[in-house]
Amino acid sequence: MDSYPEVRLRRLRRTAAIRDMFGMDAPSPAKFIWPVFVVPGEGRREAIASMPGQFRLSADELVKELEPVVAQGVKSVLLFGQHEGDGKDECGTPAADPHGAVQRAIPVLRRAYPDLVILTDVCLCAYTAHGHCGPHDPDGDIDNDAACEMLARVAVSHAQAGADGVAPSAMMDGQIAAIRRALDDEGFKKTLLISYSTKFASQMYGPFRDAENSAPSQGDRQGYQASYRDPRTALRESDFDVAEGADALMVKPALFYLDLIQEVSRRSLLPVMAYNVSGEYSMIHAAAEKGYCDLYATARESLYSIFRAGATQVISYWAPFYKEIFRP
Ligand SMILES: [Zn+2]
Repeated sequence: MDSYPEVRLRRLRRTAAIRDMFGMDAPSPAKFIWPVFVVPGEGRREAIASMPGQFRLSADELVKELEPVVAQGVKSVLLFGQHEGDGKDECGTPAADPHGAVQRAIPVLRRAYPDLVILTDVCLCAYTAHGHCGPHDPDGDIDNDAACEMLARVAVSHAQAGADGVAPSAMMDGQIAAIRRALDDEGFKKTLLISYSTKFASQMYGPFRDAENSAPSQGDRQGYQASYRDPRTALRESDFDVAEGADALMVKPALFYLDLIQEVSRRSLLPVMAYNVSGEYSMIHAAAEKGYCDLYATARESLYSIFRAGATQVISYWAPFYKEIFRP
């Protein structure tokens, strides 16, 4: 007695109210983390051409931009910095500058929004002369251990500025252990360490690189970012980061990697964040502009898919549009 015609599944979705009763609730805005690009200076609000609705902002402008976002219930940002002028070098030294854009923005945001969860991206590619996520070794490879040392310095500088958590994205072996040790040594035992444990070498980062001017000048990042053709190693990356002391894991990108989000969340009891990256955001915008789909309805469908796969939080450029997406 469990098939048609006695059973009719359409009963479970006959009216909007019935669908609401049986359907998943919309994810709370508190589950969204908004990634933002901070630039040095004041009064700067520069539109990012490849990411409609997103801007490069100086700290004072970010404070203004955040007001309606925080009012909707979004409680967290992930800061990406940028370095202008001279100083980019082989090692990415300006990334640890206490007067860098990120380090300066943190206390400004903290004053304006005492309860905001301020997370920072920790990487070197926006600060190295060559645009890679670490310095080169004599063979021309990226020097893993030297990169870890530098990443630890950057993370400490963000903690000193008042970040609630740091999120290293360089995909170096041992980066979580190196950063946890450095944070603890410097007295930052309360600082969250969120691992981009499984960050794939992906075409989906294109618009972000436009925003950050962080494309490598030579070569690509396949030597350190995970391969989408090797999911077994990708899963080991998250196992390693659990063992090294990560407080949360992350899969990046999200939409082409829903299987990995699901698998990581089954294997670990840690929170599993998903980074709904720039390309995933911009391609929905591009399709909507052409009239192929409805912008916010498609964004909503894509975000449900990420949560359904098992993500516990989503880092997304859609965060400021929570109301349009989930409470139309
Ligand atoms: Zn990087």
